[in-house]
Order: sequence, then structure tokens, then C-alpha cells
Amino acid sequence: MLEITDLHAHYGLSHVLQGVTLTGAAGEVVSLFGRNGVGKTTIIKTIAGWVRPTSGSIRLDGADIGGRPADRICRMGLGIVPEDRRIFPGLSVLENLELGLHQTAGRSRSEKREALDRVLERFPRLKERRAQMGTTLSGGEQQMLAMARVMVGAPRVLLIDEPTEGLAPMIVDEIFGIITTLRDQGLLILLVEQNVHRAIAVTSRFYAIERGQVVFTGSAANADDRERLFGTIAV
Ligand code: ADP
Repeated sequence: MLEITDLHAHYGLSHVLQGVTLTGAAGEVVSLFGRNGVGKTTIIKTIAGWVRPTSGSIRLDGADIGGRPADRICRMGLGIVPEDRRIFPGLSVLENLELGLHQTAGRSRSEKREALDRVLERFPRLKERRAQMGTTLSGGEQQMLAMARVMVGAPRVLLIDEPTEGLAPMIVDEIFGIITTLRDQGLLILLVEQNVHRAIAVTSRFYAIERGQVVFTGSAANADDRERLFGTIAV
């Protein structure tokens, strides 16, 4: 369970998050929708510890994670897949995945091996290409690699920022398929996605964001809530 209450954050003098409150539970996709520049990425980065909150609380299964160092938050079970994917040049797919093992500190060598094998089974495209340089993968495969690297740490909560930006429709289907599978396996996924129609199909609860605030929240299964969302963000 992720509970965010009255979260504020600044970039210098700019008050970017102005009191964001949202919640999500295991086994659901929670989506953040809104125009460019309203603060969606900042919400995700603040939860992950990449941006320090000025006030408010962030609780993960009851533990206060607000303002803690990012690597600590990671080890507490929260993973982030940033928009820029961060595939490391000069490293193979497998070596990129091994970088995800830093989240598994304290586990034995065989447990780490198992964590890698489990993720490769889940991402057959990556398994086939494990010896290939990560930067030579297609955009969609790089997105999968970024997701898979985080999954090596077996997080309970996954924050995913714009996973399908610039990708071909076929690979977009695959990425939504992976998101659905992870959700059904019990992960909480907090998703930022411009393709509202695609995202809404996998979402349970959504939050519409404007100027660093939640302007309304609704259930994706509710037709009135969906109508209101489409009216608000003019898709
Ligand atoms: P969104 O994800 O909704 O497009 P962002 O969270 O990326 O919005 O950005 C919210 C606002 O904060 C924007 O006005 C953006 O220009 C500004 N911003 C984002 N990152 C930084 C930064 N590192 N320093 C200063 N301003 C930033």
C-alpha cells in the first residue's frame, strides 16, 4: 500500500507539487494524467527519493519513506523506471540487468542468479538478446530492459514514467501486456502515460493533475469518471 498525503516539492523557488494526495494498493495500476509540465514526473521522482519533498508524507506499507535516500527506498521495495530508460553504453543486456542486483544487497550469489533468471524468463525478448549491447536494442526493447532491470530487485511498487513514448504500436501492446501481467501478479504500478485511452484500460484508479495538484480522482471502471477525465485533459 502506497499512501501519499499533502506532498509538496520545490525546484528552487518554483513550487511544483502543491499538496498531492493519492493512494494505491497491491495488484492495481494507478495512473497520473495531465498535460505536460503539471508535475507528474516530479510526483514519481519525489516518491522514489530523486527529488526531496518540502513537506507531506509518503508511506509504503506503513513505513515513512518520504525524503529518504533513493537507494534506501529502492531496497524497501519501490522501483522506478524513468522516462529516459538509462541503458548503459558498452554493457550487454545481461550486464545492464546485473546492475539491478544492487537492490538485492545481502542476498547470496545463487539468489542473485535466480533473480536474474526469473526476470529473463519474464522477458523472452531480452533473454534472446542477452549478449547484445543494450544500446543496440530497439526503443521498445530498451524500455523492456529498463523495466526488467528494476524487476531484478523484486519491488512491490513500480513507478513507470511514459513507457511507450515514441514506440511502434506493436511494441506498445507488448509493454501494456507486461504491465498487466505485473499488476496481476500483485504489484502496485504507478503509471504516467500520455496515451490515456491505452492506459485507462489497465488502470483501476486515476488522478488528474493540474498545476501540481490533484484536480480530481476517479475509477477507470466508471463511465462518468472516464468522461470527466477526457473532458478535463481534452484527449
Ligand atoms: P510533467 O511530468 O507533468 O510533464 P514535470 O514534473 O516534469 O511535469 O515538471 C513540472 C514542472 O517543473 C515544469 O514546469 C518543469 O519545467 C519543472 N521542472 C521539472 N524538472 C525540473 C528541474 N530539475 N529543475 C527545475 N524545474 C524543473
